[in-house]
Formats: sequence, structure tokens, C-alpha cells
Amino acid sequence: MKRLLPLMVTALVLAAAPPLAQAAKNTLDIYFIDVEGGQATLVVTPSGESLLIDTGFPSDDALIAPAFGAKPGASSDGRDPKRILAAARDAGLKQIDYLLLTHYHADHAGGAVELSQLLPIRTFVDHGAPAAGADEGVPGTQRIYEGYAAIRAKGTHLLAKPGERLKLKGVEATFVSSDGVVLKKALAGAGPPNGACGAGAVPAQEKIENPHSVGVRLRYGAFRFLDLGDLSGDPLFALACPNGLIGPADVYLIAHHGGADAADPSMFEAIKPLVAVFNNGPRKGAQPRTLTQVKQTTGLDGWQLHRSIIPGSENAADERLANLDESTSAWIKISASEDGSFIVMNARNGYSKRYKR
Ligand SMILES: [Zn+2]
Repeated sequence: MKRLLPLMVTALVLAAAPPLAQAAKNTLDIYFIDVEGGQATLVVTPSGESLLIDTGFPSDDALIAPAFGAKPGASSDGRDPKRILAAARDAGLKQIDYLLLTHYHADHAGGAVELSQLLPIRTFVDHGAPAAGADEGVPGTQRIYEGYAAIRAKGTHLLAKPGERLKLKGVEATFVSSDGVVLKKALAGAGPPNGACGAGAVPAQEKIENPHSVGVRLRYGAFRFLDLGDLSGDPLFALACPNGLIGPADVYLIAHHGGADAADPSMFEAIKPLVAVFNNGPRKGAQPRTLTQVKQTTGLDGWQLHRSIIPGSENAADERLANLDESTSAWIKISASEDGSFIVMNARNGYSKRYKR
């Protein structure tokens, strides 16, 4: 009996140790990962489920059209998949439960194949095949899609359809646009006729694949977040005018990185965001017109992944810029509570600000 006692004590200590699984939390966390003007937005629900929206750039320069302005070799070491992995580790994730690709341009879908070599991806969500003529709009799009389709074949595939939802525990994820089509019916809480509508849509800068972007509205209690990918042109306008179809959103990841085709005041009026995030690079996205639109919108704070050096840019205050130049790759992290309050944090300097509607 004496000899058995130490073993029993060890067993009791092991039984009392906390489980290895991620501890329960009560916030919805969103990481806006710096992929130098692409998109990679990691959502972690209170129950620990993960939704990654886009994957940044690929390593292979041949897949990156000159239009994206990426420096040759800039992402040759799998830069963006590694940055996504760092955020996933920070969140305690071992896998990506859902990967949503908004569309197939290199700055959004390019990192998918390499990411799948770093982290298991379970379910793939997208708008279907690339829009007809996508390669004429942006060369390389079809090859990126084919690489992605090969990894998608190893998991579960869901087609995003406006009005339908992803099944997340405790968080509503509703698709608002996909494949050129938007919601037919307004979501609950959508507003009266929008007074900020002009005569029609601002033309999309890229008219083929961007307007096919999957858009998603997340809701956790009273908190709402809107991510529209690079939606632009007629579908973007249709979500805001003549009546807003989405209702309020506390945080808006500005469509198309804050390009000039997302500067129209109608969407800002329709969703009345408290925080607008620009997933821009020093010279990509965050066009002066859009930065000015955000600055002039009452009650709205802009947060940027990069200081824009495009001439004429009125940047947000330095404390709300995640990266002042290309020497850092800090993310912006949002932690939202069920009562609708949320904290935005700049990982470069630790500055944070709390918001509540
Ligand atoms: Zn883009």
C-alpha cells in the first residue's frame, strides 16, 4: 500500500489539471492580419470555432498580376500564410474550421494552398467558379482557383448564397452577397429609405471578379460586423440603396480595401458603423477619397493596417495605424462582447479603445 501511494497522488494531480482544450471565453475575436494590401481576417467565436476570411498573397510571383503592385519576391517565403499561422497560434487554434474565400484574386485566395500545408482546413466556403472572363480582368486568377479547388476537394465545400447562414455556435454568420447576387430581403433591423443614395453605383474598378465577392454579416448578441471582400459596383450599391438591406454594423471592413469605388457615402449611411477598418497597404487601397469619407462621417473612427503614402491621403491618427511602414506586420484585433461593446487593439503599440453604440 505504501508503494502505491505516490502513484495515486500523481493520478489525482493529473485529474485535477485543466483540460488541454482551449478555455471558454466570452468574446468574439477578430484579427485583421497584415497581408500588405490583401485580405486575411480571422474570426474566433466564443466557443473557439474559427472562420478565416481570405488568405493573402501566394509565394509564386507568377500568380500575382502587376496590377496588385506587390514587390517581386515579397511573399516568396510564404509570408502571408505564416502571418495567418501566427494569429491562429495567438488565438490557440489548431485548425481552421471554415475558410471563406470572398473571390479568387491573388491578394485574397493566393495563400490558400500554402496555408493548408501549415494548418488543417475543414470546410471551404466560396461563390463557386470564377466569374466568366476573370483571367482577362486579372491574369492568374484561374490558376489560383485551380490550386484552391484541389485542396478544397479534400474537405467539405459550401456554396455561399445570400440570405443563408453558416452554422456557428452562438454567432450568426449571414451571407449578404455572392456570385454577383445580393440579399433579396432586408435583414432584421435594416433601416428606412437611405438618404445618401446618388443616382447609381460608383463603377467598380475591376468589373469581373470583385463584384462576385462573398459578403458576410456576423452577429454576436448586439455586436455586428460586416465584411464584403472586394464587392464594388452595382452589387455594393444594391446592398445600400434605395434601402439599406443589412441594417447597422458596428464594425465595417471597408469593401475593396477602401478603394475609391468604396467611398460612396451610401453604405456608411446604411450601416452607420462606429469603426471602419482599412485592410490597405502603403500604396494599395485606402484611396484619399475613402479616407476623407471616413474622416467626415460623424461618430466613425478609421483604423488602418497601414499608413497610406498615396499623395493626398489624410491618414487616421498614428495610434490607430497598425503599421507606419513595411518594417512591421502588426494586426488589429477586435474583441466584442454580447452586449455590443467592443475593444479595438493595435498590436504594434498596444493602444486600444473601447466602443459601445
Ligand atoms: Zn483585393
